Amino acid sequence: MVELKSNTALDAMHAAGQVVGRALTAVRQAARVGVSLLELDAVARRVLDEAGATSPFLGYRPSFAPTPFPAVVCASVNDAIVHGIPDRYRLRDGDLVSIDCGAELDGWVGDSAISFTVGRPRPADAHLIETAERALAAGIEAAVVGNRIGDIAHAVGSVCRAAGYGIPDGFGGHGIGRHMHEDPGVPNEGRPGRGLPLRHGMVLAIEPMLTAGGEDGYYAAPDGWTLRTTDGSRAAHVEHTVAITDEGPRILTARH
Ligand code: MG
Ligand code: MG
Repeated sequence: MVELKSNTALDAMHAAGQVVGRALTAVRQAARVGVSLLELDAVARRVLDEAGATSPFLGYRPSFAPTPFPAVVCASVNDAIVHGIPDRYRLRDGDLVSIDCGAELDGWVGDSAISFTVGRPRPADAHLIETAERALAAGIEAAVVGNRIGDIAHAVGSVCRAAGYGIPDGFGGHGIGRHMHEDPGVPNEGRPGRGLPLRHGMVLAIEPMLTAGGEDGYYAAPDGWTLRTTDGSRAAHVEHTVAITDEGPRILTARH
């Protein structure tokens, strides 16, 4: 069931989303060569703590997961697409990092992700990230009353495919509200004019995932969480929590 949020609820979700935005900004500022993924998780944890927010990631255990998730961010490096567990790995020159973070504040959840490079970026990585950001922007632009879920999916997928990148099968965005994952699903590829009509008060996490090698397949690492590209190519993942309103899309996790 798709829950429409009141304007008061949207403001509360915006407050949760702002905590996520601050956490991601802090992580990005802290990320440099030699810093470990566990240290980045600690940076995000501090921002959540100071805001009085909790983490919807910490302890999360969906059906596929062998263990509860042990951190407040997912940290996915290079060929890791999503769901990387922060560990002692220290960032190296040229690494491509995707950080996904959630926060729950006053019972409402925000969810957002960024991709960036540390040290000297490879031109191919810069292009991959820039394309992911364009795909996200296109998806947000399509998140308007009068459109359908398929219009968002089509907008995201078209940008990815036009650049020759792969789209991991079966992963995408989702409704969000009091829970991190609510209906409806928001695929990263689809047909325009299809699916659920968008209405004022729907809140969606839109999250393109792109693989540089162009393959849609992936495999789970031995930790049971991290999804990696089958060909070892790099991946990018960006995400915003977006409210559909009569005044247009409202990005609840915008960073300042
Ligand atoms: Mg996320
Ligand atoms: Mg999400």
